[in-house]
Amino acid sequence: MAKLRLKYYPEQVLMQKAKKVTTFDSSVRKLANDMLETMYEENGVGLAAPQVGVSKRIMVIDVSGEDEPNTPIVFINPQIVEKEGSLIGLEGCLSFPNVFFEVRRFDRIVVKYQNLSGKDVKMVAQGDLLCRAIQHEIDHLDGELFINKAVSPTAADLELVKNGFIAGDVEALELELELANSNQGAGATIKIPDKDKTPVVG
Ligand code: ZN
Repeated sequence: MAKLRLKYYPEQVLMQKAKKVTTFDSSVRKLANDMLETMYEENGVGLAAPQVGVSKRIMVIDVSGEDEPNTPIVFINPQIVEKEGSLIGLEGCLSFPNVFFEVRRFDRIVVKYQNLSGKDVKMVAQGDLLCRAIQHEIDHLDGELFINKAVSPTAADLELVKNGFIAGDVEALELELELANSNQGAGATIKIPDKDKTPVVG
């Protein structure tokens, strides 16, 4: 196995729709293994092939806790076939180091995919981490990034400016966010991410 080099925003490959996998050979197995190694080393819970510069519909996820044995899942050509409900939660992305903000996702999905042998698999995912990670990674395969799905675009912009991904005025954005929060009233405020506790979805 080998660790792969991550692609960061705004690399073009992150904005492209990835190609379907049609042959299930050793090169696909090697890519999946290398992606898993890269994901573990970067402390992510998911990684999609475009994030390592490969425009193919392959993604890996492992939502096991630190003290639990690894439970890697390799998804090839995944497709969401059922979706319902909604759940807001903090998300991070390995292609945007240190950027976290809230994203709304479906609360329950049924996903169909192929495993490394090319066999069809159907999985139900509900609740936060796995269900969220699958949706985040499938977006990567479609060239879609979480920055376009923020619950508060201002909160996302603030994080992007603070971490040098886009140009902008931190103070003006902070003021805008404060105003938005005070207008919404208690209970609806935009969460300030706790970066030590939020998993990087991938
Ligand atoms: Zn990501």
